[in-house]
Amino acid sequence: MRAPAKLNLHLSVGRLRPDGFHDLVTVFQALGLYDQVTLTRADELTVTVEGEGADLVPLDATNLAARAVCLLAARTGNDARIAIHIRKDIPVAGGCAGGSADAAAALVGCDALWGTDLTRDQLADAGAVLGSDVPFSLHGGTALGTGRGEQLTPVLGQGNCCWVLALSEPGLSTPAVYGELDRQRHAGPVGVVSDPAEVLAALRQADAVALGRSLGNDLQPAALALRPALRSLLDAARELGALGAIVSGSGPTVAVLARDATYADALAAALTGQGQCAAVRRADGPVAGARVVEAH
Ligand code: ATP
Repeated sequence: MRAPAKLNLHLSVGRLRPDGFHDLVTVFQALGLYDQVTLTRADELTVTVEGEGADLVPLDATNLAARAVCLLAARTGNDARIAIHIRKDIPVAGGCAGGSADAAAALVGCDALWGTDLTRDQLADAGAVLGSDVPFSLHGGTALGTGRGEQLTPVLGQGNCCWVLALSEPGLSTPAVYGELDRQRHAGPVGVVSDPAEVLAALRQADAVALGRSLGNDLQPAALALRPALRSLLDAARELGALGAIVSGSGPTVAVLARDATYADALAAALTGQGQCAAVRRADGPVAGARVVEAH
């Protein structure tokens, strides 16, 4: 199975709800940067991980892919003794929903392995229990997310977006970034991004220049407060001719929009040369959500 990374092209964060989540309005896009998850029947539930940041991923029952296997096993009456192997390409704690991608891949994989033939909606319903981003990791494409991000409406857009991802280490904890936002809002007025109308119009018209201008993320000031070095990375990307640059979700990954694939490759090379980030990846979007693929 493989499942894609996500970006938030627009993320407005509303009030803190009594259940500890924030109300969100977000525009997700799935990117062609994937984790691969392999499931094999075994004597016990195990998790092994390889790839970038593998040492930061839990190998016990708290791993989101393991939680997905256990949840679906309980819901469908199947045996959760599965060996889970994850090959990570999505940055860990990078604001690109890597853990959610692994959970989505595990849900799709269990459904195939057990022949339970659940609908995407049933899988998304289980996914929402595991994390707010899991339904989108299943869905893929470009979608408007509301609620805590788990209620999805597909966004009809045309064209391809060419992205460069600038990865930073160490990762940022999503709860810590939300906590910093709450702290900033408590301390005084904080600028907020407007509604997603401009992003949606730009996507509809396949207008990359307008999309670059309209990218917005309410979590960005909080991520910048916790990781001030990201500001110069954002500035550098814009000075190099990016159409837009934004902190992805809770960061610290910075997503840089280029006008076309050739320019994106050049931007990736230039950002690598500047040495301000740990690694640079090229990825285009939108792509499909979690899918069964042949192992390779
Ligand atoms: P999001 O954008 O959804 O807020 P993120 O991309 O910032 O998340 P993740 O890579 O999903 O962050 O990981 C966040 C934390 O979740 C990690 O630090 C790790 O401890 C834990 N975790 C649990 N399962 C996984 C997994 N399969 N892959 C990565 N991290 C996992």
